[in-house]
Amino acid sequence: MFLYFRPYLSCHRHRLLLSTFLRNPNPKSSKPLLPCLLPHSIRRLSGQIAAMDATVDSLRRAVSEKQAAAEKQGEIVRAMKADSGASKLEIDAAVEGLKGLKAEVSALSAELQAKLAVDGSNGGGLSREAFREKVVNTLERRLFYIPSFKIYRGVAGLYDYGPPGCAIKSNVLAFWRQHFVLEENMLEVDCPCVTPEVVLKASGHVDKFTDLMVKDEKTGTCYRADHLLKDYCKEKLEKDLTLPVEKAEELKHVLAVLDDLSAEELGAKLKEYGITAPDTKNPLSDPYPFNLMFSTSIGPSGLSPGYMRPETAQGIFVNFKDLYYYNGNKLPFAAAQIGQAFRNEISPRQGLLRVREFTLAEIEHFVDPNNKLHTKFKDVADLEFLMFPREEQMSGKSSRKLRLSDAVSKGTINNETLGYFIGRTYLFLTSLGINKDRLRFRQHLPNEMAHYAADCWDAEIECSYGWIECVGIADRSAYDLHAHTEKSGVPLVAQEKYPEPREVEKLIIAPAKKELGIAFKAEQKKIAEALEAMTEKEAMEMKANLESAGEVEFHVCTLGKAVKISKKMVSISKEIKKEHQRVFTPSVIEPSFGIGRIIYCLFEHSFYTRPSKAGDEQLNVFSFPPLVAPIKCTVFPLIQNQLYDEVAKQISKSLTAAGISHKIDITGTSIGKRYARTDELGVPFAITVDSTTSVTIRERDSKDQIRVSVEEVSSVMKEVTDGQSTWADILWRYPTHSSGPAE
Ligand code: AMP
Repeated sequence: MFLYFRPYLSCHRHRLLLSTFLRNPNPKSSKPLLPCLLPHSIRRLSGQIAAMDATVDSLRRAVSEKQAAAEKQGEIVRAMKADSGASKLEIDAAVEGLKGLKAEVSALSAELQAKLAVDGSNGGGLSREAFREKVVNTLERRLFYIPSFKIYRGVAGLYDYGPPGCAIKSNVLAFWRQHFVLEENMLEVDCPCVTPEVVLKASGHVDKFTDLMVKDEKTGTCYRADHLLKDYCKEKLEKDLTLPVEKAEELKHVLAVLDDLSAEELGAKLKEYGITAPDTKNPLSDPYPFNLMFSTSIGPSGLSPGYMRPETAQGIFVNFKDLYYYNGNKLPFAAAQIGQAFRNEISPRQGLLRVREFTLAEIEHFVDPNNKLHTKFKDVADLEFLMFPREEQMSGKSSRKLRLSDAVSKGTINNETLGYFIGRTYLFLTSLGINKDRLRFRQHLPNEMAHYAADCWDAEIECSYGWIECVGIADRSAYDLHAHTEKSGVPLVAQEKYPEPREVEKLIIAPAKKELGIAFKAEQKKIAEALEAMTEKEAMEMKANLESAGEVEFHVCTLGKAVKISKKMVSISKEIKKEHQRVFTPSVIEPSFGIGRIIYCLFEHSFYTRPSKAGDEQLNVFSFPPLVAPIKCTVFPLIQNQLYDEVAKQISKSLTAAGISHKIDITGTSIGKRYARTDELGVPFAITVDSTTSVTIRERDSKDQIRVSVEEVSSVMKEVTDGQSTWADILWRYPTHSSGPAE
């Protein structure tokens, strides 16, 4: 999806389109757009701004008032010292007063600093940045993911998944297939990444898939203009203790409308705040649009331009006709695709959250625009979770728990099918291990949505970077199929056969080509096309005017001028026709999953530390549910012993036969160390061989252990890793084992 913007970790390009096409017919005009239209309350809507609450504001106010009082008192002291008339006693009293005010300023500043630090922390005492550093260090050290081409100093925005990362990604994708493709009988396709220009021209990407960029005027280094402005505002709000309240309000407002600023407005703000290139402090160029697609040419001639696809959706749209036929010419149906998407992000940062190549899993659910009910909506209707409808955002409230059925029946969510996918997405993300209290569904504000979109919601997950859009769920109406029908000339439509033929009144516009040809020569074709494209209202008006006056002035857009049409040049009538079917362009409901973003948020939500047994160090743990864990269990002989090694190998064989990923470790390392190593990989279960007949199974987070016979162990593992039983289910079925030497 691409024609609407997202705030936060959003695609500025979407906004650019909107401000250019919907609200600012003249992109060159420097007239302010949305900023002056926004109600004050919207200023408070973004995640970053929410942290700056009333307490911070009142502390800021107190700091600046005391600061002003201290400055005034300083002047008084200086004047008294200069004026020989003041006694020592008087001067000492004034100096004491100044000291008191300065002490108050520093006490209030400390309080403000503490408040800002709490707002920026992860709740566990660590600042967000410190928490992130800990997680990312662990992830990179254990090869969950690493910068690509590292030995050549890497390339920004490109990452490799290492062994545990690969396993997690493949588990997430397998579950996605099961949860969506299998559940809904979706038609999965796999289209090329290299895409001819014409396809992306039709979709609008060639002309509009842009972000605003600025360049360091001396070194040529590129930056995203809105990111520089955002960083400046955030830095000031979070770190400048002397920032006056009015200035803080202004910066919050800028953050809230950041995605709506035109190139001119962004440039003006960068200048106003004196923002320079972050690395060199050199002056910056004016912002200008940069297309994010990687261009290429197909074949050796260089004559056939193409692009690496920026999303997978277009591959599905262009195949609509065949997929519809494959589905027995029936609606609704959904097609799905998992694949790489490429976006030449200007200055990628934030690790896996903004990269230049990433995996998308997209669904295009095609539905009759007149019937957006969903037969399985009742399965999700009772779910309750955090939603952030646009009314709440506009009135400065926070997200709140809503029941899905209420949200749909009250019209907060536009239709059942959209509601169904929102509910299924909630279940998908929480089953993966995303914390439901840090997951919300945020509705797009009217100014964020493309004109054709009926409704859009983003699944946003909170992590150390704030609320991140990880899934976009949009009712895109018939836009995409229309666009490709127009460009390709192939009608991407569906039919509804009537049980009985229906009589309908049809407008018939028949240009008289011979007459037009005589009058307009080569321009005849464009005039005929324009006549045929008239709306019913325009055609009936023309008919009336032709009948009364004999001829009319007719403006032909494609010629950029008006021509005189006479009565004999066109016939306009209405006829009753029998129709056997209705032909229409289906609407599309599109859930689009950024797999890398989901996985990164999952890493943060799963990470915790706990003290080692000796209490001398903090051990890292990823609490992945078995469903996504990269390795489901480990097999350790308790001590180095040939008999135990044999049992371990036998268990490993039966786990392999049962399709359970595991790791066998027969090194002599202490069992505690082996547990710690695999806890850090998020392995949920550890099988310890401490006899030849039975073994223990330890659960990672509770560290509870049970004793199971060697014969049963792989079937128990299968049960608990396949999700047929939970650990709690099997805990009471088997004798518990006290940790003893094992922990
Ligand atoms: P969009 O088509 O821009 O709405 O993107 C669809 C999904 O792709 C988003 O919800 C994100 O999860 C993900 N996404 C978009 N851009 C990036 C990027 N540069 N890096 C990683 N994921 C992205």
